[in-house]
Amino acid sequence: MTHSPQRDTLERWASGERIAPLPAREGAAPPEISFEFFPPKTPALEAQLWTCIERLAVLKPAFVSVTYGAGGSTQERTHATVLRIVQETDLTPAAHLTCVGASSEAVDEVARRYWAAGVKHIVALRGDPPPGETYTPHPGGYAYAADLVAGLRKVADFEITVAAYPEVHPQALSPEADLDNLKRKLDAGATRAISQVFFDNGVFLRFLDRALAAGIKAPIVPGIMPVTNFAQALKFCDTCGTSMPRWMAGMFEGLDDDVETRRMVAAAVAAEQVRLLQANGIDEFHFYTLNRPDLTYAIARILGVKPQPAAA
Ligand code: FAD
Repeated sequence: MTHSPQRDTLERWASGERIAPLPAREGAAPPEISFEFFPPKTPALEAQLWTCIERLAVLKPAFVSVTYGAGGSTQERTHATVLRIVQETDLTPAAHLTCVGASSEAVDEVARRYWAAGVKHIVALRGDPPPGETYTPHPGGYAYAADLVAGLRKVADFEITVAAYPEVHPQALSPEADLDNLKRKLDAGATRAISQVFFDNGVFLRFLDRALAAGIKAPIVPGIMPVTNFAQALKFCDTCGTSMPRWMAGMFEGLDDDVETRRMVAAAVAAEQVRLLQANGIDEFHFYTLNRPDLTYAIARILGVKPQPAAA
């Protein structure tokens, strides 16, 4: 008799085995969450960002990070956004900083400005060259993120977060070399990694196993991107080496003009993703908000994070 997956499942059911439900959350501490924003280009987008920040701030994230445009193109806007967060909120900001195309002195100067303004957390990244170009380190710059981390440690006592790639960075020589690179970044003084976006939880959990086996003890926080614009997400995945599971593409198929259903599907997909990670012991989550609060807010609630009253 040939075995079909359905028959296997039926046999498991017949023997009394049940597919375990996700554990109840009662009594469990809510996870630690953080949010990523990007610096706005126009006054209208700035207003949208601040609506987003205000809506999410009540969830008391551990920190909120602000990205740095490709090649440092948003240096001033990133700085201004981070500063406004320091001045107008009680959130803890983390400024993304890249070293591509800049001398180490210029990068150190940006870091010194942050430290002087009270920004103590940097997300340290190499960054990418302009599209179509191959990466080459700036002659007088930090060559890779590990070098940047080491340089920042000399500037001030920053908390430093780095990037991790569950599906391997596209330019890595091998998965092992990429993991060695992550270890070098942490050994140089980073205390946490945030993962590139992924949609297949198996990929992330296997990556954690490999990281642990390589001696990495620092937290690797999953980067969660709630997807509503599927076409845009697909493009993004293509550039950063994230695979899009076929089942997910199927869920969004034919919904291009149906915003309402797309939003519901997006919420269900992201909720399932984070609940499964939570059931596997993950207790920190970083959300790529794309400056839109609603899905992230709902998913944080699903994880058990509740709004906190403002401090008296
Ligand atoms: P690195 O850790 O330096 O690694 C880059 C590549 O070089 C890897 O393939 C690595 O294996 C390889 N490598 C490292 N050292 C060596 C060596 N000595 N010899 C040979 N190869 C080596 N980009 C932005 O522009 N702005 C942002 O704000 C931003 N935020 C991000 C946030 C997160 C959480 C993530 C995951 C990515 C972010 N990026 C951002 C994208 C990031 O800049 C790119 O993915 C970039 O290509 C790699 O940056 P990195 O810091 O991981 O580089």
